[in-house]
Amino acid sequence: MRIVVASGKGGTGKTTVATGLALVMAQAGPPPLFLDCDVEAPNAHFFLKPALSRREDVNLLIPQVDLARCTFCGRCAEVCQYHAIAVLNRNVMVFPELCHGCGSCTLNCPERAITETPHVIGVLEAGQTPAGIDFARGLLNIGEPMASPVIRALKKWRTAAPGQTVIVDAPPGTSCPVVEAMHGADLALLVTEPTPFGLHDLRLAVELARHLSIPAAAIINRDGIGDDGVERFCREAGLPVLMRIPFDRELAAGLARGRPLPEISPAHRAQLGALAGRLLEEARA
Ligand code: SF4
Ligand code: SF4
Repeated sequence: MRIVVASGKGGTGKTTVATGLALVMAQAGPPPLFLDCDVEAPNAHFFLKPALSRREDVNLLIPQVDLARCTFCGRCAEVCQYHAIAVLNRNVMVFPELCHGCGSCTLNCPERAITETPHVIGVLEAGQTPAGIDFARGLLNIGEPMASPVIRALKKWRTAAPGQTVIVDAPPGTSCPVVEAMHGADLALLVTEPTPFGLHDLRLAVELARHLSIPAAAIINRDGIGDDGVERFCREAGLPVLMRIPFDRELAAGLARGRPLPEISPAHRAQLGALAGRLLEEARA
């Protein structure tokens, strides 16, 4: 079973839930594979404390044009759907920051004037946590604009053993990197908070999950603040609320010190344990 933990906005407690769930699953049965796909700001390692032992660069293949062979026919610019290559007078310009490394221009060049050079945009790291969780994360290099290829590479690099549960910590929002992280999930746990902003972003996240045909459920964090708009929306949209985490200053202080949710109090551990049990039972059914 592949569970993606996502949220329409940052700071809702997505990583708190994802890491907490991984820890209670590891205590109750075979440890899951945890993928931190929040590649612009990965922070699951603060809670899971893995010993990272493997590392691999993520490259994009950027075209390089041999102007001596080029006839300036413009075919490469025509086929590039990202407008990353332009033919101007007797010059061909490549814009690496727009290039997705798809190889279309190279394949379509009639003169074979294009070669590809690797450009490192990020890194993948993996290891084991003290709880036995297989942990892997992606890190986008500073200044690189495209997170999706790093997420795609991470999902390909570390795959689950037969029957192993996968927990994916998605980036916040509902843009392309989130789509990439959610793709292939059996369930989306959408973490939100009971505020008008939380409701607005939850609506977008639900729309995205439905667009991708992924069953979704909500987890309400900081329960007790704000209003009942999120609860009403969940009822009307048929979105099950699987867990409510009350707003609590001690909890916030514990998380800020890098303590995972199940460690902070027995009540939270029991809540997460019940959630994990329910998800694993549904996966077996
Ligand atoms: S497709 Fe090839 S030959 Fe045509 S403009 Fe582009 S690089 Fe030059
Ligand atoms: S590799 Fe793809 S994205 Fe990059 S310039 Fe060529 S066609 Fe455009």
